[in-house]
Amino acid sequence: MTNFADFGLSEPIARALADKGYTVPTPIQLQAIPPVITGKDLCGIAQTGTGKTAAFALPILDYFARNPKHRLKTCTRALVLAPTRELASQIAASFGDYGKFLKLSITTVFGGVPIPRQERVLSHGVDVVVATPGRLLDLVERGSLDLRHVEVLVLDEADQMLDLGFIHDLKRIVGLLPRQRQTLFFSATMPKAIEELAARYLKDPVKVAVQPTATTAERVDQAVIHVNQAEKPALLQLILREVENAGKLDRALIFTRTKHGADRVVRQLGLAGFTAEAIHGNKSQPQRDRTLKSFRDGSLRLLVATDIAARGIDVSGVSHVINYELPNVPEQYVHRIGRTARAGRDGQAIAFCADDERPFLRDIEKTIRLKVRVLGLPENLRAAVAAARKAEADSPPPREERDPRGGRPSGRPGARPEGRRPAGRPGQSPHANVHPARAGRPAGAPKAGGARRGR
Ligand code: AMP
Repeated sequence: MTNFADFGLSEPIARALADKGYTVPTPIQLQAIPPVITGKDLCGIAQTGTGKTAAFALPILDYFARNPKHRLKTCTRALVLAPTRELASQIAASFGDYGKFLKLSITTVFGGVPIPRQERVLSHGVDVVVATPGRLLDLVERGSLDLRHVEVLVLDEADQMLDLGFIHDLKRIVGLLPRQRQTLFFSATMPKAIEELAARYLKDPVKVAVQPTATTAERVDQAVIHVNQAEKPALLQLILREVENAGKLDRALIFTRTKHGADRVVRQLGLAGFTAEAIHGNKSQPQRDRTLKSFRDGSLRLLVATDIAARGIDVSGVSHVINYELPNVPEQYVHRIGRTARAGRDGQAIAFCADDERPFLRDIEKTIRLKVRVLGLPENLRAAVAAARKAEADSPPPREERDPRGGRPSGRPGARPEGRRPAGRPGQSPHANVHPARAGRPAGAPKAGGARRGR
């Protein structure tokens, strides 16, 4: 079976796929679609970029096409849970694309959007809800969403959900669903905790695994440059200029560990004449949407992101991923470089490694089972460093980069990565301090202006 036609998907879906230009299923689609169509539960190890969204969306849409039902007020037939808003939006967009010739109602539910708007949509009943856990529970508690008629549950990026502290929300949500349902479970990695979760929620599942961590990594041309933290701004500017002059810069994603680090990189790039924007948990949802849209349509070519905000971003033509700061969790590195070399294309990933990041690099190399090629520092770095320092000295730092408590400026090694906070303080709910929308705010600090409650 090598063709979408062999799956026997209903005609409107086949037509939508033809419109998308999909002809050959990806390995996860080949393995997952046939059993899921027959109603089996599924446990899939696959990361973003493998085509996993279609692997679950197509059988669900096909089931709906063949089993139409009247919508029940405030109910949904399929529930897809995702760890981030960006991923949720993307999944909903894929459902919309593949189901465009079906008369289905698909909606997203996540924080940062006024709750009454979501309540209005849900009040009529919908076919598919794609949600992050926190806001979903808020809506259930308000009586605006009833999960008792869910026929299919999808848990996407389960490992990331656990990392973000959604486990309690997840358990509560699953407890609200009918026992009789189909459950599809996806995770990029399968540590013990995820395995246990899968065992609890899945009934006699088909297990499929594609692209073990190393394979994506092997497709990406990776390099690392050992550089002092203080020289990173100049190094970034030199590299971007060089790639741009060579006509090879389609789009670059630049990763920092912290939100403030991301803002700082944007500002420094701006001083050097580059247009860049950041997405992270402190940006409002409309801001994040706008930035992603311009990155997608090509009007913005440099996007600076933290891991959480970037998780699940699916933008084709990301030619370069620059790890301005190395992640302290090796799997994040794999997710980051997976933004390039998508759908079979080749991409380039360059990491900047300061002395105190060397242990992170060692962990990464162990995980990807590859030694990352080392590049030397560019000859003109010293001059570029001087120029970058001068530009920085001539411009006053924006308010949000000054640390009012005199603490360590963010963006330096040791600053807490977005979304990975120390365990909760006494009296705090276990998930209250790890929701992506709130993540990164220093414990006890007042909310920054414009930051929203993310549920
Ligand atoms: P995903 O892993 O679901 O995020 O998908 C990664 C990318 O591959 C998305 O841009 C999809 O639109 C694209 N894609 C998924 N399946 C196929 C396919 N069979 N042929 C071509 N592109 C695909």
